[in-house]
Amino acid sequence: MIRYRIKLSELNSRIDTAHPTKLTPRGNVRANATDSLAWRKRAKLETLRVRSARTYSQGRFGDFWGDLKEIFYSIQGGKCGYCEMRLRRYIRRNSNAPGEVDGEVDHYRPKDGVKEWTEIPHISTGGRDDDCYYLLAFFPSNYVLSCSACNNAKWNYFPIAPNRCSAHSCKKADLDAELPYLIHPLNSSETDPETLIGFKGIIPIPLASPDTHDYWRAQVTIRLLGLSKGARLKMDEERAEVIRALYVALRLEAAQPGNTDVADELALLPVDALPHRNCARSFVRLYRTNPAKAAELAREAHRVLQDAGLS
Ligand SMILES: [Zn+2]
Repeated sequence: MIRYRIKLSELNSRIDTAHPTKLTPRGNVRANATDSLAWRKRAKLETLRVRSARTYSQGRFGDFWGDLKEIFYSIQGGKCGYCEMRLRRYIRRNSNAPGEVDGEVDHYRPKDGVKEWTEIPHISTGGRDDDCYYLLAFFPSNYVLSCSACNNAKWNYFPIAPNRCSAHSCKKADLDAELPYLIHPLNSSETDPETLIGFKGIIPIPLASPDTHDYWRAQVTIRLLGLSKGARLKMDEERAEVIRALYVALRLEAAQPGNTDVADELALLPVDALPHRNCARSFVRLYRTNPAKAAELAREAHRVLQDAGLS
């Protein structure tokens, strides 16, 4: 996981541009046609509706969140916000419209109740709450575009360290007082995910000292989303490919210092829109400090690719 920098004001502006109120040919707002309202105005109506009902229920605006996929796809560089795997885009035949984007707009804080998460039994994770967090169902700052594997794994879980805020009062101060374990890749005030999770080869690892909250944030995020080695073979293979390509580039760089053509792969390290940048940057950092260990991990990555018939 890496951080995607986006301010809420910029996100709102993008949504308003992509989904404005649809006007009549004379430039007027249609009377009694709430479906024609701008996305954020409809979201406000939906929030008023669930606030009044004091619980979440599905609205009547169809694929409400699907309308935002394109925007989050662009912000996140076409990747899942959690696992950094590339999201596919399907081309619509006989159409100039943008293709259909794969994945789901995930509610970081679930909109329809929280299930108890007990995979790491000796830490407290806030328990079950059937009402949380319905007031955030229609807030774009609560969204992450995710692949279906991450979306399914996360489901209605939202483990937190101390007490959960009241479902009926999700003010910013209440949310800020929570200590979530799951890392949010688009929250500008969130800790940079790359300072919490690093990689040892293709294996994600916590970077903080054991038994600190940051350590458990990394552990829970890895376990909850299924980011460990062996959880998803395709993810392991992609990370191994990244390491193999980088190792070749690093060896070439060492053999031919000053040759600017040999290390194209290294030039792509800062490009957040490419898959598995946390894994890639972790590997290069290790190579710079401990090339022997990096060589060992490169051999392990090569074995993963051999086992998959990809080398
Ligand atoms: Zn994912």
